[in-house]
Amino acid sequence: MIIGLVLSFIFGSIIGSFLNVLILRLPVEKTLNGRSHCMQCKHQLNALDLVPILSFVFLRGKCRYCKKPFSHRYFYIEVITGLLFALCFAKLFPINSLEYLILLKSFFISAVLMVVFMIDYEHFLILDKVVIFASVVLILFNLAIDIALHSLWFNSLTLNGLLAALGLFLFFGGLYYISKGRWIGFGDVKFSFVLGLATVFPIIVINILLAFMIGSVVGLVLMASKTKKLQSEIPFGTFLAISCMITVLYGSELINWYLRLIGVRIYV
Ligand SMILES: [Zn+2]
Repeated sequence: MIIGLVLSFIFGSIIGSFLNVLILRLPVEKTLNGRSHCMQCKHQLNALDLVPILSFVFLRGKCRYCKKPFSHRYFYIEVITGLLFALCFAKLFPINSLEYLILLKSFFISAVLMVVFMIDYEHFLILDKVVIFASVVLILFNLAIDIALHSLWFNSLTLNGLLAALGLFLFFGGLYYISKGRWIGFGDVKFSFVLGLATVFPIIVINILLAFMIGSVVGLVLMASKTKKLQSEIPFGTFLAISCMITVLYGSELINWYLRLIGVRIYV
């Protein structure tokens, strides 16, 4: 288990350093194949400068060439992605060969959520290309899992995911329509489609409830501390992303805990 955890963490931090590039370049339409360079002195960074986490620690968070500090968020995103991958592994351990597909799917979901969270937080934007790419890959994942489990017709994850995605899309679309875009943005409506494919029924319900709960708690705290007015809100997509991650990791535990609480003895 320890080896699996460590490998997942290392894999996650490598993916995290790639996500850093996506988060930086996707919203400004920059090409993805240019070499990475220091934001201050524009010096090209070589392979040694780009080792996830380690290079940040060894260079003490400074550019090797101009000694100006790098933004700490590169480091945090690498560490958090690594931790999320390790948690995904821990959740599924012990893993049989079929479950590696599910593990890969949760890695992919974690990566998508990191990107959506960061870009929405910084730019109040959920990008179509991220939504479309994530949807296609998640449908393929669900199909592959169905094929591996021979569940294409009965108990089909693909079908479940598409129905959940469509249901959420209509629900959020309705919220958007009723509130004329004041409660949520249309980006959230599109993003909800991805969430349906990611967490499917019945866990998806937890995902949505959590998002509204976290959203209201954070909103209340912010209003109480007067750091933000209600109008200058934090984008709702960030709450959807956080709650989706919690749901992927602990959704079934949460549902079972709740069912026990109200005295229902069905286990999901
Ligand atoms: Zn520099």
